[in-house]
Amino acid sequence: MATNIPLTGKFQVTCEYKRKGTAWISGWHTGIDLVGSDTIYATCDGVVTRTGFDKSYGNFIVVKDNQTGKYHWYCHLSRIDVKLNQTVSRVSKIGVMGATGNVTGKHLHYEIRNASNQYADNADPAQYMGIPNKVGSYDTANYKINDGQEEAKGTLKTLARSTNLRNEPTTSSSEKTLYIENTTLYVLQAGVATADGYTWDKVRIRVNGKEGYMINKNYK
Ligand SMILES: [Zn+2]
Repeated sequence: MATNIPLTGKFQVTCEYKRKGTAWISGWHTGIDLVGSDTIYATCDGVVTRTGFDKSYGNFIVVKDNQTGKYHWYCHLSRIDVKLNQTVSRVSKIGVMGATGNVTGKHLHYEIRNASNQYADNADPAQYMGIPNKVGSYDTANYKINDGQEEAKGTLKTLARSTNLRNEPTTSSSEKTLYIENTTLYVLQAGVATADGYTWDKVRIRVNGKEGYMINKNYK
């Protein structure tokens, strides 16, 4: 299982989908505004069909969902980390949250357009993410989306503390990468080894899709 949320860890919804207002040409908010960790992830398996800058949307990325044919828009980015026609999945880091375009502060405007890819012909992004369409505080650790393919990749967990991912299931493994608290990961195989006084699990980190071994007490 995986989340369909483009962030990891704790985040806020700061403006709901379909809120009415004169700030929008359509008279309503066509996406949902999220504030949280800087790294933005793709929310589907798909292909990058557009990247660029728009005076309203700022730096933006559009990913076409392979399964549904819908278009996922990630806007106001400070950085775009993907190229046109690049294949992405839910473990792909695609950009960094920013405050470009028509904004009052740093946030991600996440929008799902139907197959038309026309402005104001949208799907409900809150429903897609599985969260309430309501201003408030949330945590990706609490949301899991039914997706048979993702389920085969392991059980979704969140790091309880900063910890290392290692190439071998032992603390003496020289190859290691530090991951910070609230990062999400998939437990691929539990209890792979007992070494150095710890039980080790094989995991895949959601940040970049990297696989390795981690002490199983370090996530919740
Ligand atoms: Zn918005």
